[in-house]
Amino acid sequence: MKIGVSECLLGCKCRYDGGHSKDDFINTALSQHFQFVPFCPEKMIFPTPREAIRQIQIEDEVKVFTSNTSKDVTNSLKEISKKCAKEIQEHDLCGFILKSKSPTCGLERVKVYQPKNAPSEKKGVGFFAKEILELYPYLPIEEEGRLSDAWLRENFLMQVFAYAHLQEFLKSTPSMSDLVVFHTSYKYLIYAKSHEKYKTLGNIVANHEKLTFEALLERYKEEFLKAISLKGSVKKTYNVLLHMFGYFKTYISKGEKEEILEAIEEYKQRIIPLVAVMKVLKLYASRFNVEYLLGQKFLSPYPKELALRSDIKAYK
Ligand code: SF4
Repeated sequence: MKIGVSECLLGCKCRYDGGHSKDDFINTALSQHFQFVPFCPEKMIFPTPREAIRQIQIEDEVKVFTSNTSKDVTNSLKEISKKCAKEIQEHDLCGFILKSKSPTCGLERVKVYQPKNAPSEKKGVGFFAKEILELYPYLPIEEEGRLSDAWLRENFLMQVFAYAHLQEFLKSTPSMSDLVVFHTSYKYLIYAKSHEKYKTLGNIVANHEKLTFEALLERYKEEFLKAISLKGSVKKTYNVLLHMFGYFKTYISKGEKEEILEAIEEYKQRIIPLVAVMKVLKLYASRFNVEYLLGQKFLSPYPKELALRSDIKAYK
């Protein structure tokens, strides 16, 4: 699986000051699971080291100037950003991690300097980030800084793996029955984000409008990508856990029921991490061979080594 990364985050000394912004999580945990495709638009048009650049509000337009010599580099940065963003499609990426705060790569809250010495405002988007967002509206994208938040990290990686799975599924020239199996396997993963979205996807699969299969797949793809881009919550996940528990609760003793419900409550109160509850549910699903549950992507949405569900802060 390939993800695009702002090159300085990989340790490349391509920053304006000749340094790098090597990120630990990307270069250790993620490097075990992904192939990285580096992008640095600035190094392709400017020397390194170079003068820093910054976004400046000029009337109703945001332009980019070098910080000391005040040279307007807006057009060249725009052009190279467009070129790099187009190249993304050649790489079959399933996500992108951008460098925060950069006037080129920052995804949000980039400093925009105001005229007449007014204080800068953190409201900008990097030029390259903007092009990526426009060209690939459903590509999972995050900044390295936001990935230190366990909740955003878990949501992002769940989205990346589901995105990659969908692409792989579509490439396999699926049949209608394959689509039903795929859709069913995502029931609880999507429930943990939005019941409505799963219902919308179910209506597409039911094909009341009698679309051709190609048109139906196209609609399914779009709605699926929207669904997986939503963030999960403790409340919705708690409901999913109760649903799952319902599949085997009639086969177990009163004591066992109480133990499991207590674990689910403790998850809700953020005393224990989700991984602990999932272990128990998986165990019972296997014990009673509940195939429907065992086929749910929600049980294993990404490699367990990433340990994303081991942190109680991974759920809000
Ligand atoms: S933030 Fe983006 S443009 Fe700047 S050095 Fe890093 S990769 Fe290059």
